[in-house]
Amino acid sequence: MTVPMDGHDVHLSEALIRDFAISLKGSLIGPSDNQYDESRAIWNGMIDRRPALIARCLDSTDVAAAVDFARSNHICLSVRGGGHGVAGNAVCDDGLVIDLSGMASIDVDPERRTVGAGAGALLGDLDRTTQQFGLAVPAGTVSETGIAGLTLGGGMGWLSRRYGLTCDNLISVEMVTAGGEVLRADDSSHPDLMWGLRGGGGNFGIVTKFEYQAHLVGPTVLAGFLLHPIARAQEFFDFYGRYTADAPEELTTIGVIRIMPPVSSVPTDLQGVLVAGTGVCWSGDIDQGRRVLEPLRNYGAPLSDTIAPIPFVEHQAILDLGVPAGLHYYEKSENLPALTPDLIEVLVHHGEQVSSPYAFVGLFQLGGQVEHVAEDDAAYTQRDAAYSLIMSAGWEAPGKADIHTNWVRSFWKAVQPFSIGGGYINFMSHDDGNDRVEAAYGSSKYARLTELKNRYDPNNLFRLNQNIKPTQRV
Ligand SMILES: Cc1cc2nc3c(=O)[nH]c(=O)nc-3n(C[C@H](O)[C@H](O)[C@H](O)COP(=O)(O)OP(=O)(O)OC[C@H]3O[C@@H](n4cnc5c(N)ncnc54)[C@H](O)[C@@H]3O)c2cc1C
Repeated sequence: MTVPMDGHDVHLSEALIRDFAISLKGSLIGPSDNQYDESRAIWNGMIDRRPALIARCLDSTDVAAAVDFARSNHICLSVRGGGHGVAGNAVCDDGLVIDLSGMASIDVDPERRTVGAGAGALLGDLDRTTQQFGLAVPAGTVSETGIAGLTLGGGMGWLSRRYGLTCDNLISVEMVTAGGEVLRADDSSHPDLMWGLRGGGGNFGIVTKFEYQAHLVGPTVLAGFLLHPIARAQEFFDFYGRYTADAPEELTTIGVIRIMPPVSSVPTDLQGVLVAGTGVCWSGDIDQGRRVLEPLRNYGAPLSDTIAPIPFVEHQAILDLGVPAGLHYYEKSENLPALTPDLIEVLVHHGEQVSSPYAFVGLFQLGGQVEHVAEDDAAYTQRDAAYSLIMSAGWEAPGKADIHTNWVRSFWKAVQPFSIGGGYINFMSHDDGNDRVEAAYGSSKYARLTELKNRYDPNNLFRLNQNIKPTQRV
């Protein structure tokens, strides 16, 4: 097999590939295998890449062998956790995909309230297992998202304001380095690396196991959605901005504008209707939550109020149907300060023009414990943002891509004057360049990340990510 790499052809002999396959406990998949197409498909159907090989690894030794294979044969490598990265960096053309989906074990230590999770685990795996012990690790909002990419970029969701980002709850990792060594890192043994892994993405190595701090949550939370007519969006978000500014940390909300999708979790009379509103999750005492939520629920005349006690695990999957795998997706994000009437006007104006029932505006409410971690304590940046805004387009036909990508781009341009200076790296698309990555971290953090990259991956073996460019090649 001959594959192009950086303008050269690399020849991988049959014997070389066979020896690599034999060395793996997992399997090696090539273009002629039946599972090839399903194995290269990821959540974003817009990404259609054809890797030379896919190594389905089963443990850190397999991952180390795969890293050695890519490095020593000078081929490109990509790392696939849950395959939910919208940029599509989990798959590469002509190189080796290191697929971690077979490494999804979850071990809970209920005494210490810690959780060990294989890097291929999905959020649903994590939630279902931890909730058996009445515990949860703060993570994201869609159960099919991979824990790996989510954790390494930050990880925000329904528990962030109460217990911090996912990366704030990261205790230790097992990681395969660019040199193919298996390394165990925590705050005592590798403090700089841990600093970088808490928000610096997949730049420094391939994490094979995460250890997290878990917290007592549920099993029941008070959660659901409040939806208002789009015609009253401006007034609603004005009230929402004031309400959320003083909200207790047990409450996390996600403001939303979208055409409600044609899925079973949405009442039929609202399917296809453009609405503005908020999702909420109160993870504290239920009666107290009812009192706290009263002003929000009593505001205006919502079209729908589904807030009720619900199993935490169920709420964690409630958004799944609205973001089906395989559609084409494009998104951008920006960190925002508190909502002002001018900013709301921009959000509503562009929100009213959402390009399809799978496009949406999401305002992840931050603050609380996210803000209580000092800015310099982790690579994750702009902890003082009040909201992380996501502008996301999803569509079925590839032919109309421009309509959707243009909606996102013009929206993103319009919020620039309000931005506090960057966006969330986990919501970046394939065409967000290095300037956006630098902006996400700011110049001093980016410089510190570059030093770390120089130390752990000077030749940029791990480059298919929101890339920190090394400056000292060896
Ligand atoms: C439908 C949907 C909902 C989402 N909701 C949220 C949300 O609520 N909150 C939130 O914070 N984010 C959310 N995200 C964004 C999510 O955090 C990122 O897409 C994240 O990258 C997903 O991780 P993954 O492992 O599934 O991705 P993958 O596509 O598998 O990986 C993405 C990148 O992460 C890196 N990576 C993956 N695994 C490893 C590893 N083991 N070691 C080193 N690097 C690795 C690689 O650079 C890889 O290219 C959502 C995304 C989607 C598509």
